[in-house]
Amino acid sequence: MTAQLYLENTYLFESKAHILKHDADDKGAYVLLDQTIFYPQGGGQKSDYGKITGDGFELIVHDVRQVESEIRHYIDASNSDYSALKNCAAKCVIDGDRRLLNARYHTAGHLLGNVVESKYPSLKAQKCHAFSGEAYIEFHGFEMPNDQLFSNALQNAIAENLETKIFEMDRRSFESIYYKLPYEIPENKKFRVLQIGNYSPIPCGGTHVRSTKEIGEITINKMKQKNGILRISFGVK
Ligand SMILES: [Zn+2]
Repeated sequence: MTAQLYLENTYLFESKAHILKHDADDKGAYVLLDQTIFYPQGGGQKSDYGKITGDGFELIVHDVRQVESEIRHYIDASNSDYSALKNCAAKCVIDGDRRLLNARYHTAGHLLGNVVESKYPSLKAQKCHAFSGEAYIEFHGFEMPNDQLFSNALQNAIAENLETKIFEMDRRSFESIYYKLPYEIPENKKFRVLQIGNYSPIPCGGTHVRSTKEIGEITINKMKQKNGILRISFGVK
């Protein structure tokens, strides 16, 4: 099981690791590490890119995915012989600009969800796709928000520089304090929760910036209501 250092610190761009295994699947060659700073694509957030280097090797990581319990770091396979890599000590470096952009977009999605839900309680956030250039968040519900009203609330939440907090809880405690989760999470298993300021917290395994000012400016590009799904397309600059 790989230790997920990216869950502990969004801003950790370099670390040491050991290569546990190299293998290939239909997405290409990959390595597994004992611990990783590379975020695997998921939860509406893009994967990190970067390099894994060591004595006599340099691996370019161009994609990272979680497959069951494995975090697979997909590497450029052009310099082929990876047979000697097992148990090698390595240094990992991720593209910090990409990580921060992804974390800003991802945190922006949370904030948008919180602000819209608090202004329009009949709308419930259900999906966020926080890829730069194509980001959107979808809500269940038939209301069409007044974009000026929630844009102002959004700007205020950024200007207030609300802190993002991460904590762990089990399902029973979470639901007794906050709200009933719309999906199953096993009892007695703690999960990671994100909360922005005093807004409603949400279980999440993504990377987040420390506070809302770090998001920058959120632009609302388009709002579309269709068959009880409201889609808000947004950007961050
Ligand atoms: Zn998150």
